Amino acid sequence: MGDWNVKLRFAAKLVLKMEITKELLKQKFMEYNKLYFNNELAMCRFTYIYMRDVFGRYTTNITAKGEKIGHIWISRSIELDEEMLRDLLVHEMIHHYVRTIDGVFFDGFFCHGRHFVRQVKRLKKQYGLDIWICNPYWFYKNEKPKVTFGRKAIAFLRNRLHLF
Ligand SMILES: [Zn+2]
Repeated sequence: MGDWNVKLRFAAKLVLKMEITKELLKQKFMEYNKLYFNNELAMCRFTYIYMRDVFGRYTTNITAKGEKIGHIWISRSIELDEEMLRDLLVHEMIHHYVRTIDGVFFDGFFCHGRHFVRQVKRLKKQYGLDIWICNPYWFYKNEKPKVTFGRKAIAFLRNRLHLF
């Protein structure tokens, strides 16, 4: 059933893609912070990524005063609809949570270790949200949207077995 949901979403994204602006990212961050993180997260900075590299990224800058500032990088090389934006943003917000609330700087080699997985499970249990570590149904603009066996296998290893 979950698989169908993703497929329908993938089809819907062709018509529902939205204009991503930093103002929108900020607004959505506040919305999801309230909904899913009990308003505990400090606002992040946002930067666009244009390379065909990753869909989203999270880093932390530490100020001279030792304050941790979260930084979320969002790809402009994919078309996002509202749900994809939510999934992507909440994924990066989990990294922010692990880093600034749990205070964990090493959560596995690819940062999707047990602290990250704990939040994924909490969001699933409390809100029915499916936050993916790797979504095989997401493609870059100009990329042929082909869900190969290899893609699915990698997604399975990452999402279900939490290997990386
Ligand atoms: Zn991640």
